[in-house]
Amino acid sequence: MTDRSARIPDYQNPENTVATRIKDLISRMSVEEKVGQLMQLDAQQDLESRILETHVGSILHASPENLIEAAKLVRRTRLQIPLIVGEDCIHGYSFWPGATIFPTQLTMAASWNPELLERAARVTAIEASATGVHWTFSPVLCIARDLRWGRVGETFGEDPTLIGELASAMVRGYQGKGLDDPSSILATAKHFAAYSETQGGRDASEADISHRKMRSWFLPPFERVAKEGCSTFMLGYQSTDGVPITLNRWLLNDVLRGEWGYQGMLVTDWDNVGRMVWEQNIQPDYTHAAAAAIKAGNDMIMSTPRFYEGALQALSQGMIAESDLDAPVGRILRLKFELGLFENPRIPDSARISSDIGTAEHTRENLDMARASLVLLRNDGTLPLQSEHKQQPAQTRSIALVGPLADDPNNQLGDWAGGSGQVGWISEEPRETVVTALDGLRATVPSDWQVRYAKGADVLTLETDPDGARFPDGQPRPPIQRACEPDPHLIEEALEASRSSDVTIAVVGDVIELIGEGRSTATLELFGAQNALLEALSTSTREQGKALIIVLMASKPLILPPCCKDASAIIWAGNPGMQGGRALAELLLGKIEPKGRLPISFARHSGQQPTYYNQIRGQHGLRYADLTQEPEYCFGEGLSYSTVEYSEASLHVLDDAGTLDAERSLDNVHIGDTLRAQVLLSNKGTRPATETVQLYVHDVVTSVSWANKELKGFTQLTVPAGEQALATVDLKVSDCTLVNEREERVVEDGDFEVLIGSSSKNADCQSLSFTVR
Ligand code: BGC
Repeated sequence: MTDRSARIPDYQNPENTVATRIKDLISRMSVEEKVGQLMQLDAQQDLESRILETHVGSILHASPENLIEAAKLVRRTRLQIPLIVGEDCIHGYSFWPGATIFPTQLTMAASWNPELLERAARVTAIEASATGVHWTFSPVLCIARDLRWGRVGETFGEDPTLIGELASAMVRGYQGKGLDDPSSILATAKHFAAYSETQGGRDASEADISHRKMRSWFLPPFERVAKEGCSTFMLGYQSTDGVPITLNRWLLNDVLRGEWGYQGMLVTDWDNVGRMVWEQNIQPDYTHAAAAAIKAGNDMIMSTPRFYEGALQALSQGMIAESDLDAPVGRILRLKFELGLFENPRIPDSARISSDIGTAEHTRENLDMARASLVLLRNDGTLPLQSEHKQQPAQTRSIALVGPLADDPNNQLGDWAGGSGQVGWISEEPRETVVTALDGLRATVPSDWQVRYAKGADVLTLETDPDGARFPDGQPRPPIQRACEPDPHLIEEALEASRSSDVTIAVVGDVIELIGEGRSTATLELFGAQNALLEALSTSTREQGKALIIVLMASKPLILPPCCKDASAIIWAGNPGMQGGRALAELLLGKIEPKGRLPISFARHSGQQPTYYNQIRGQHGLRYADLTQEPEYCFGEGLSYSTVEYSEASLHVLDDAGTLDAERSLDNVHIGDTLRAQVLLSNKGTRPATETVQLYVHDVVTSVSWANKELKGFTQLTVPAGEQALATVDLKVSDCTLVNEREERVVEDGDFEVLIGSSSKNADCQSLSFTVR
């Protein structure tokens, strides 16, 4: 035989099935190559030896130079197995200079718009794939609970249904038309599962949670993306019931692989295997830790260099067999074959790098996302600053823009971006790629307006932690943050700008050093001199009868000082991405409408934690002795610049053809039925309004304690000024489930209430009833 297929090994022949190729390749791999294939190591160190001697299957945190170097090194390996290159492209490929950086995940969640999130993920996939990245560690499906946790900003907020919707949208966007499309990247559902169920908000603390509670709220979003084909799952840092998730057979084998039939690849979080030795002290050494990780069903081991010797030792001591490596190696190779990496290793593509990254079209998508994510929380009519409906004499002509976040490109972008410290090759994004609030306002105000800027307050200074600058695994240990004292000079500059302007806009919030891994906060108040600045501005604007607008540019809900109760308007901007300042300026000036709705509740005091809306009923009363338990702003809240009235809502059963069945009684609905809730919205104002109509279900009597209400659906629609629009939300009765004491998800017969309205607050909803029999 002389044809090509006869000369090349089976695994290299694309005409063979993936199963044949995997089998052939595994049969050719040495035990060292198999162990290495299970490893993902940081490309910033020892790249050559990691590829040539440790035979790693994957690298992460590869700089642009590393990516090119890695591709060359693979060609020097015996079997030339391509690498999978992973990176945290979690709101854009934000470690690539000039790539499109979107608002952070929590900020994007405020859009309540799966379509926009899918498009953002698609843009990220196109940009990241051009650089040679094949896999993003996104989206985060953790349910935000204690707001002091440093990673709240990486989540989609507090509601499992919203998380499931938005996460699925991002997975679709990343994975595109199919893995074999070179613009697709692998998505990761992380951090499996209940990592966010912290103790006091402390990062990676024991997640003290029952299996039933996991099944009730923490697992459903993961199950949804598993079934929709999310290619990989990342196992969180936390332990449950004393077992780190990396070794949690119930979660990995019984639930994920067993009940859900998940076939994708698992990856540990950073050094989970090593942490069992040096941090959690539950394995005596790396040999035992490596054996335990393999036996528990892990595939890719992230950032544990000593896994290599550990696994080889475990093999030589008979703690594991070489055949135990074949299934995980096979799952890793399967993805490499499905991505087509053996035919096209998708190395950095210089033509695509110049044509596909940070394009005008991607910038437009980013701007749309930022526009849709801003949440107006309070407005006494001061906003928008410019409106044809305002009386001319009241028109603003000058703005004082003050505050430490008003012109701070790095902190505006938030965590996992240029300056946030996870990678070494980039310290900040090119300045011209970020539009700060100051840039945005200057570019947007009419030419005869004045913008006066003053920083007004410093936030913090850093000191090295007395325990040392690095953790035992060599990772940088966050320094200690010292709050800055108010600086009378800076405050006076801000007051001076404020006194000489018609309105004052204060942009305050948090900075990168106060958010992220290992950076939970003990409180939720504004840090440093920001409260003093707000107090001074509040007194001064009140005395002068002028408006004070607060923009909270914060990764997560924070608590504003009491003086802000008098503020004319409050906007939560989250970390709004590269186009954030432009979107904000447009909103302030009334060029766009406020559309965002909170994906997470805002506490009024840190001691109220946790404040999520869907709490389990049965606790005594709704007040602490010294404070209400009501949050300051609830899940789902957000204002528009118009007034929208909701007419009386209706609820009907749909017939088999999907049309309303007027004959069917709501007193006798069945599990297979779909109900349709409708409400007519009338925009009574002078501007268009985008409403997010939310449908919650309250199961009146349950066999076990259960959440008082849960989001089951929502729809977003724009109602032009003076017009009406009909909002429709369908509800499948089979979704009105709970998890019973036997841990089964069931619909229980009995009475239910549908709450439909503009937020999770009962006062914002109308109630309708149905009975399941
Ligand atoms: C984080 C993950 C991240 C990984 C790789 C870990 O420390 O918890 O979310 O994907 O590092 O950077």
